[in-house]
Amino acid sequence: MASHAHYIDGEWVEGEETFVSENPATGESLGAFPRGTEEDVATAVDAAEEAFEEWRELSYPNRAEYLWDVYEELKARTDELGELVTRECGKEISEGQADIVEAAHMVEWAAGNGRHPHGDVVPSEIAAKDAYMRRSPRGVVGCITPWNFPIAIPFWHMAVALVEGNTVVWKPAEQTPKCAHAIAELMVDAGIPDGVFNMVQGFGDAGAAIVDSDVESVLFTGSAEVGHSIANEVGGTPGKLAACEMGGKNAVVVTEHADLDLAVPAAVLSSFKTTGQRCVSSERLIVHTDVYDEFKERFVAAAEKVAVGDPLDEGTFMGPLIEPEHREKVRKYNDLAREEGVEVLVDRTELDDDEIPDGHEDGHWVGPFVYETPYDPDLRCIHEEVFGPHVALIEYDGDIEHAVDLQNATPYGLAGSIISEDYRQINYYRDHAELGLAYGNLPCIGAEVQLPFGGVKKSGNGYPSAREIIEAVTERTAWTLNNSKDIEMAQGLSADIKVEEE
Ligand code: NAD
Repeated sequence: MASHAHYIDGEWVEGEETFVSENPATGESLGAFPRGTEEDVATAVDAAEEAFEEWRELSYPNRAEYLWDVYEELKARTDELGELVTRECGKEISEGQADIVEAAHMVEWAAGNGRHPHGDVVPSEIAAKDAYMRRSPRGVVGCITPWNFPIAIPFWHMAVALVEGNTVVWKPAEQTPKCAHAIAELMVDAGIPDGVFNMVQGFGDAGAAIVDSDVESVLFTGSAEVGHSIANEVGGTPGKLAACEMGGKNAVVVTEHADLDLAVPAAVLSSFKTTGQRCVSSERLIVHTDVYDEFKERFVAAAEKVAVGDPLDEGTFMGPLIEPEHREKVRKYNDLAREEGVEVLVDRTELDDDEIPDGHEDGHWVGPFVYETPYDPDLRCIHEEVFGPHVALIEYDGDIEHAVDLQNATPYGLAGSIISEDYRQINYYRDHAELGLAYGNLPCIGAEVQLPFGGVKKSGNGYPSAREIIEAVTERTAWTLNNSKDIEMAQGLSADIKVEEE
């Protein structure tokens, strides 16, 4: 079995303990990877600290040059790397390729931004003073990423951090180490200087070691459980910063003025794309009573039919879940919904044998699970993120205010969408839905890198991606220069130095 390594201080470094990555659709082994330890992380952080002084002295365009090489490779190898994503994380093949396209866009944005203005020229009250807001890199940035966008999200974290002059220590997700290895190879091929980019493979303990280390910023994308613990820990350390982006319990609101020809496909895409394993996937459909019966009939018919199967097959809509533990979690939430008394409409939790493609018997298969329930604030199944194809239909009566109250009735605030032909309803939703990402007459998925991508409430603090992440990886300095021989102070403050009378 091919063995892989960490990449620390310009070297491929073996580890003592290893773990195996498996294709979630087949169980096939994709290779062994070293399990990072506290010592590996400490070595990587030391190397990144040492490399920082020289890296920060390069110009922005010079730093960006390394990333342009990575961009060219991502463009040239989209199909090959997209297939790797599909093999390792089970997303159907067009989604595997889209992961690479998104990564390329992020790298393009970050490298292009190396030639754009940074900071501001700010007026001063005193004509003889020049005042500026200047940015400088924070230092070593720790990056901790999830498995579901194994090439794109690491570049959300690292591309801007590097061009801004930081060095990085990255801990990829344990489910997708082969994709991570491919990123490290791209960095090596681009000739990135030793210690500027470091990758430590492994599990949560290696991630926790990064959080505990002397890194200046922690960029985390993943579950709320882990993200909140990181935010609490880092928040207690003055000068350290954590940008945490987490999950949601997202909803699509379908009003009485919705075009159902648009609402049904929007809901299917929102709920089942990536087998419900997107942070923005919708697990709640809040539907007005006037259109409820027809919407339900059409949505249920679609959920019964969506093609679950080999993610490399272009006819597949939903691939497998990422790992057996996750399939167990989804099964448990489906059981919980039943125990909580919902009315089950579609239950494809266990696929029939003839639905599972030959050679894929060891895949982590699950199909859609759809139920209806009146809104009840005590139901866990409509408030907790399952991260799978587990969908509640919630009927509402009354006005858009009520629908938006239901949309907001979770501790999360990541993504959501409204389907309506009435612009007043859309604008009310736009102004009152508590969300970081909101869509009108679209599925609640989509992440163009030039837009912010972050949540509110328990979902995140809104730093990623692109422009917004600059705040998490740079310091601002207010720099004022006097062009006069005299000192003149703002706000009328006296500059006289008064002395005791003789
Ligand atoms: P996860 O939180 O289990 O793991 C994410 C990363 O954190 C992994 O690299 C993991 O090894 C590491 N980790 C685990 N425990 C840690 C600890 N104690 N300290 C430091 N690091 C630790 O998440 P996952 O299962 O990989 O991803 C799914 C979750 O990510 C879902 O909740 C999804 O909604 C969320 N997500 C959010 C976004 C977003 O942009 N908001 C994007 C993708 C996924």
